[in-house]
Amino acid sequence: MSWYQYLQNELALREERQQIRKLHVTENGPDCWITKDGKRLLNLASNNYLGLAGDKRLIEAAIEAASLYGAGATASRLIVGNYPLYEETEQDIANWKGTERALLIGSGYTANLGALSALLGRNDVVYSDRLNHASITDGIILSRAEQKRYKHNDLEHLEKLLQETPANKRKLIVTDTVFSMDGDTAYLRELVHIKEKYNALLMVDEAHASGVYGQNGAGLAQELVERIDLHMGTFSKALGCSGAYLAGSKLLMEYLTNTMRSFIFTTGMPPSTVGSIKRAVEIVRDESTRRALLMQNGTLLRDLLKQAGFNTGGSSTHIVPIVIGSNEATISFSQMLQEKGIAAIAVRPPTVPENSSRIRLTVTSEHKPEEIREAVKLIAETGLREGVLS
Ligand code: PMP
Repeated sequence: MSWYQYLQNELALREERQQIRKLHVTENGPDCWITKDGKRLLNLASNNYLGLAGDKRLIEAAIEAASLYGAGATASRLIVGNYPLYEETEQDIANWKGTERALLIGSGYTANLGALSALLGRNDVVYSDRLNHASITDGIILSRAEQKRYKHNDLEHLEKLLQETPANKRKLIVTDTVFSMDGDTAYLRELVHIKEKYNALLMVDEAHASGVYGQNGAGLAQELVERIDLHMGTFSKALGCSGAYLAGSKLLMEYLTNTMRSFIFTTGMPPSTVGSIKRAVEIVRDESTRRALLMQNGTLLRDLLKQAGFNTGGSSTHIVPIVIGSNEATISFSQMLQEKGIAAIAVRPPTVPENSSRIRLTVTSEHKPEEIREAVKLIAETGLREGVLS
């Protein structure tokens, strides 16, 4: 079979399984209302949790940084692509997180890929929650370490796997703190006890918790900051920018600076992005009202969907899935909702486990309670008509 025939067959197979992905165009910038493919929709699909992506102060900071240092960093941070702004921002992030040091990385994906593949080698064992983000799984594969996936949030299973491992092996436990497709949270205090008992490293991914949880928005792990070895979080969600941080001890950060290939072999982040990140961290630290509004909106959406009879899984956050099951029913429901004016995105395997396709809804601090109420009314009416609700 020729290469092109093979590629065509692979796509046809995905089409058959209703797993084809298509790019759509969002015609306006970040807002609670978007125009997508010409249709105005209530945006319940973005990760702009605190509404910062369109904040004038972030945009001005980006312009200022670009005016000072240019449109691009011109080289790797380790060559000539490191500016005072970058060092100051990393210091701000470390202060915000309460760690000795922090490191800026181009994206959450490359932060997880780089950190896990730098820390782990073929003789090590890594314990990963089954619902961890794909970038964690990919980092583990790249590291060639032995991977043991424990059942979602099942600490008994985790301990059983740890007990099976010889004591002399180096071990690392890794978990999302807020799970991106389920909107539930990890048992961090218990994980810290386990990691101390078995002498393992603990790494947490705060992509959906940074800016949202903790005092000053530093994340769900903030209270346990010193007992968790490696903190990763993104600036691409609640902080409204792009990029990620790794934060922890001076030793760990120095090790990663010397070994992390997704840091070493890539151009430094654009000055504009670092400028807006610095400003976003300040805003998140100072403006707790945004977090309070986000929490209220999350609770409202969750409660109303549950009252209407939807299965929202274990969600306890601003991420609220409507778990449906089959790809076909999920896609059809999502299309119906878009026709009714709601951006409600279908999430299918391999992003979520087989037979657990869902609509992933998210709110922001900027949504008005009336908008959420109105949306749930429409979702429930459509759910009844489509047979998602009985
Ligand atoms: N970790 C988690 C838990 C995520 O949900 C995401 C983004 N979907 C990432 C990492 C990757 O972050 P980024 O989009 O900044 O690459």
